[in-house]
Amino acid sequence: MRSVVNIYTPLKGKIEEARELCPDVKLYRVRVPKEVHYYPGQFFMLSLWGYGEVPISVCSLDDTQTLEFTVRKAGFVTSAIHQLQAGDTIWLRGPYGRRFPLEMSYHRDVVVVAGGIGLAPLRAVIQYLLKERRKVKRVTLLYGSRTPDGLLYREEYDTWRASDVKVVLTVDCPSDGWRGNVGVVTTLWHQVEGELREAVAYVCGPPVMIKAALTDLFLLGMPADRIVTTLEAHMKCGVGKCGHCYNDGRFICTDGPVFTYKEIKEWDLTL
Ligand SMILES: Cc1cc2nc3c(=O)[nH]c(=O)nc-3n(C[C@H](O)[C@H](O)[C@H](O)COP(=O)(O)OP(=O)(O)OC[C@H]3O[C@@H](n4cnc5c(N)ncnc54)[C@H](O)[C@@H]3O)c2cc1C
Repeated sequence: MRSVVNIYTPLKGKIEEARELCPDVKLYRVRVPKEVHYYPGQFFMLSLWGYGEVPISVCSLDDTQTLEFTVRKAGFVTSAIHQLQAGDTIWLRGPYGRRFPLEMSYHRDVVVVAGGIGLAPLRAVIQYLLKERRKVKRVTLLYGSRTPDGLLYREEYDTWRASDVKVVLTVDCPSDGWRGNVGVVTTLWHQVEGELREAVAYVCGPPVMIKAALTDLFLLGMPADRIVTTLEAHMKCGVGKCGHCYNDGRFICTDGPVFTYKEIKEWDLTL
């Protein structure tokens, strides 16, 4: 008898750690029973019986049996996930989608541009760049959050800085004692050392930020095929079947979620 593989069958994961990073955002370290290989930029469908499935980017580097996800409480399913503790079960399918083309950063300066929860998939990019540090020239992280409280992975910045990553932070609404920048992340281009036209950029954040950052970088001389972003969309299946993430002839789940600005322009994708 021919065996049938059901692409929707999830893998059972055990939560090893559930840690609050800031109000409404938690980091989950999940252990799976078999090796799963994945790359920065890819995502998994996380699910809970009785609630549903949501696409969440992997925010760690391939560790074969352990994966990390950063989940913002946005609505029905993510609120249920936020109830989970270490020891609980979570189900996952994946990895899905196109990864970040990270070889593009070899022998170049790299600019990582993040807004809010958009730092989650880019954390995996930063970890990759640290691992390949000698192959990459200067690395600058420009990261914007609404408030200082909302900055993710604060305890990791010193490690990143120790590996010669220039970490530049900005907030929209400073609190008492905030000594960093104030304003949107696209006011920080002058902080990037070197020529933007020779560099590569990885961008993720809310759609309005992505749109502004992509346009600015292009106008500042960076070639469109070296400006890379990852797009969000409403998604149900994650594997190109349901059509929920259809965007002007492409599926965000299988053709993306990672796209270069050149592809976005050529394929006329809606940002
Ligand atoms: C490829 C991909 C990677 C993602 N990675 C992450 C991640 O690493 N961390 C994270 O916290 N979130 C991530 N998201 C967003 C996350 O999937 C949504 O927040 C989640 O699906 C909301 O589900 P819910 O049932 O909790 O909310 P719902 O109750 O369904 O909706 C709550 C609100 O969120 C909006 N919403 C629902 N789904 C999406 C969506 N896919 N994109 C944008 N808005 C949505 C709804 O319109 C509504 O306003 C990612 C989305 C995609 C497509």
